[in-house]
Amino acid sequence: MDRFKEISQSYNIADAIKEAQRCLHCKVPGCKKGCPINNDIPDWINELAHGNFGNAFEIIRNRSNLPAVCSRVCGHERQCEGGCVLAKKGEAIHIGRLERFLSDFDSEAGWRHEKLPEKNRGRVAVIGSGPAGLTIAGDLSRKGFHVEIFEMELEAGGVLMFGIPEYRLPKNVVRSEIQNIENMGVKFHLSTTIGKDYTIDQLFEQGFDAIFIGTGTGKPNRPEIPGINHPGVRQAIRFLRRVGLYENGYISRDEVVVGNGDKVAVIGCGNTAMDAARTAIRMGATDVKVIYHNTIEQMTALKTEYDDAVKEGTQFLWNSRVTEIIGGEGTQLKQITVETNGVQNIIPVDKLILAIGSLPAARIVSTTEGIEVDEKGYVLTREMPYGMTTRKGVFAGGDVANHPATVVHAMQDAKRVAEGITQYVDAVKLMASISKH
Ligand code: SF4
Repeated sequence: MDRFKEISQSYNIADAIKEAQRCLHCKVPGCKKGCPINNDIPDWINELAHGNFGNAFEIIRNRSNLPAVCSRVCGHERQCEGGCVLAKKGEAIHIGRLERFLSDFDSEAGWRHEKLPEKNRGRVAVIGSGPAGLTIAGDLSRKGFHVEIFEMELEAGGVLMFGIPEYRLPKNVVRSEIQNIENMGVKFHLSTTIGKDYTIDQLFEQGFDAIFIGTGTGKPNRPEIPGINHPGVRQAIRFLRRVGLYENGYISRDEVVVGNGDKVAVIGCGNTAMDAARTAIRMGATDVKVIYHNTIEQMTALKTEYDDAVKEGTQFLWNSRVTEIIGGEGTQLKQITVETNGVQNIIPVDKLILAIGSLPAARIVSTTEGIEVDEKGYVLTREMPYGMTTRKGVFAGGDVANHPATVVHAMQDAKRVAEGITQYVDAVKLMASISKH
């Protein structure tokens, strides 16, 4: 499907080296400070500037298990590129594009032959294979743990596979990153739901030393608006998931709610709202409006995502809220009432998509004793060992514990939890060996 083809382009070799040579290799690099996973950006750019692609990629991989993903979906403008000393002059190094060049070059050249330690440090079960789960799995494998991932979907990747649209993150890129993690010896159990097929207790009975919950936030928020329960109103994360399933051949076109010629309204103005609006256009919607209760300055979407949405024809209604939804036949709506600065307007729409955030689902905690959550359902974790829940040996990280954030922030948190799990399992094994003697 060409409309879903990746939009941004990578560098060729000459342009990548030229761009890397602009880097000043700063002593106190703002780029590195701006990177949530503390990537050694000046060092790998320096290697790249000298044509040492293998060394450059090795440095990136020391900090990131998902470089091809990060290079495409990270908010570089707010992170590394925003912190680059050259940004003040509007000439920040294009760090994201350089990282993409290296990760694509690596996947084409098939360089990765990492020497991993023997897996005799312990067994860890990871629930969920989104950015947090994949990061934990990669980090723990490198530390000598045997890791098994349990994923409820037919395919691994979580939000990377079924949440972020193809035009921003091609699925062959996600599959290749997952393959790299599998090559590290990580075992995947697909179509396996923890809380249904197995409980946490049953995983411990299988001999796992620690369990990580990285299931994200799958329960969307629903505002109180008259008519909200009509089938023409859909959740953005579910709409994007269904489009992902359709694109990958798992479901048919008529199972995706937005049809050719539909008029679509989206409530919310974060990156998921931009994804929903732009995906609706790709599914044939001819009129797409984003409705947001605040101003453009307050939107949480990245400016680049907003600019692209505008370019593709999305309209924006600021300071506006939907006050009523009038349904029609089947999944068709008739109209919505939108209040803008106190004035009510009737807008004809066929579908309404909600992109106003989501909360953790309760499937795992409701089937497990001793895991406490806050009033909204986020799993409570502690600082020592980092990420452990109120149940011994059970850890949580990423969105399910920290409220929805970006892919790289989920990875940042997961890296700390990997340290916490390591400390915990090492301590338990040490105690066991002391008590034996
Ligand atoms: Fe290079 Fe910019 Fe980082 Fe300085 S801040 S090392 S110029 S990328």
